[in-house]
Amino acid sequence: MEDKVIKSDKINPKLKYEIMKIPGGQNLLKCFACGTCTVSCPVWQDDPTFNPRQIVRKIIIGLEEDLLNDDRIWYCTTCYDCYERCPQDVKITELIMALKNYAVTKGVIHQAFTAQVTEIFKFGRLYEVDEFFNKKRSQLGLPELNSESPDVKKIYSETKLEEYVDKSNLQNKSEGEK
Ligand code: SF4
Ligand code: SF4
Repeated sequence: MEDKVIKSDKINPKLKYEIMKIPGGQNLLKCFACGTCTVSCPVWQDDPTFNPRQIVRKIIIGLEEDLLNDDRIWYCTTCYDCYERCPQDVKITELIMALKNYAVTKGVIHQAFTAQVTEIFKFGRLYEVDEFFNKKRSQLGLPELNSESPDVKKIYSETKLEEYVDKSNLQNKSEGEK
């Protein structure tokens, strides 16, 4: 059975202030725990253990370790349903993004995001543009796309997003092409 007692040494009382400093987190303390965000959430409908209202409460209480060790903070699909319906304008979609950005500063990043960051670094988009893809485009009268995007690589370099690219994945690809 889940331990319901919150131990004081598990609380970071500064967490809420740290999150409120990140763009998207400013309205955190407006939440009055009505639960509208949760019942609006399509992820919650599929998996009731993903609970946006509970995420907000945990941030306010300061349960940093609990939040950062929980894969579910990465489940939000950014559909903005909760954002539209929140009566307090908490901007919860962006609040959860702020929490994820905070997690990254603490060295916590979900492998699904690393995979996406790596794919976009390699191809400039989330999928590879190959010969077949461009053939289909030309059949539709559309111009060919490049299989790489130097502009994206420049953005990665200048924003330091490059640090989150899975280099082993790049290695495997180049070895596979030999
Ligand atoms: S809908 Fe808004 S006010 Fe209600 S619990 Fe969610 S974040 Fe808080
Ligand atoms: S934005 Fe995220 S938390 Fe809000 S309803 Fe959509 S999936 Fe749920």
